[in-house]
Amino acid sequence: MVKRTLLYLFTVSLSVLLISFTGQGKEQGFPQTQIKTVIIDPGHGGDFPGARGSFSKEADVSLSVSLKLGKALQQQFPDLKIIYTRTTDANAGNRSTLKDDLRYRADLANSSGGDLFISIHCNSTSPIRHRQLTGYKTATFYVGKGKKKRKVTRKVPQYHYWTTPNPAKGTETYIWAANKDEAKIQSISQNNEYGEIDSLSNITMPDPNDPAEKARMLIYTQKYFRKSIMFGDLIEQGFKAQGRVDRGGVKQRNDKGIWVLQAAGMPSVLVEIGFISNPDEEKYINSDKGQSDIVANIVNAFTIYKQKVESKSVNSQIN
Ligand SMILES: [Zn+2]
Repeated sequence: MVKRTLLYLFTVSLSVLLISFTGQGKEQGFPQTQIKTVIIDPGHGGDFPGARGSFSKEADVSLSVSLKLGKALQQQFPDLKIIYTRTTDANAGNRSTLKDDLRYRADLANSSGGDLFISIHCNSTSPIRHRQLTGYKTATFYVGKGKKKRKVTRKVPQYHYWTTPNPAKGTETYIWAANKDEAKIQSISQNNEYGEIDSLSNITMPDPNDPAEKARMLIYTQKYFRKSIMFGDLIEQGFKAQGRVDRGGVKQRNDKGIWVLQAAGMPSVLVEIGFISNPDEEKYINSDKGQSDIVANIVNAFTIYKQKVESKSVNSQIN
């Protein structure tokens, strides 16, 4: 009897162990190490054009790079299933609000059983404002009231204002930060240097009091966080090797702009392929050469990532 109970306990704990290694029990008995489905997410589109450069818009550049990325991945890995969150300049899933558009992207990624989520965006910063004193103008004012009212003249400085493009350039790869303290999620800074974040103000952030959100955050933290860092790091290292400006490696951010990263239940990165607000980089990210460099780098990072993830055993830390 004791033996039987022990055997039963052993079997149960083994099953629990195996299920915990297989994602949400997708394939029972074996670890989920095969990367079969990749979700490619071209940022923005349709009613939500994203950042604007002097001659192009973010939605178009991200779509072009995303389609080329999918094609290149498919060529190199014919068995890989590629799912795009959009393939035209339209709202994702033809959803009318930005909130639903983003929700659709995450839902599609999840319902397609994605193993990796790659979101492609362009960065942008505000132009630099300048002011130069051009001279003075004499202006007349009245001071006092009633009989005491009198006329005075003052010299008022005259300025010429103009802006120049912000020279910020380079690539950035973001992952959703894994917060151990869930309360932090609620106090996520709204302050952001990226203009596009403002337009996402109607997105609801994960509510740590909602059990489903809480569970998803926990799974992200436990299962996907390290893989996301690894993949993001490979992408950033590759950009650096291509001579792009390194803006500090993989960055963790929790704000509305990258909400979709944690909503997709899989390792996920958001790649800012360059600054559309920088005239040189805008040309580069629109050019065939620039786009093929970017694609080649992400394909290379994916190749290494896939090999690493798939070669890891059940006991691996990375799983
Ligand atoms: Zn964007």
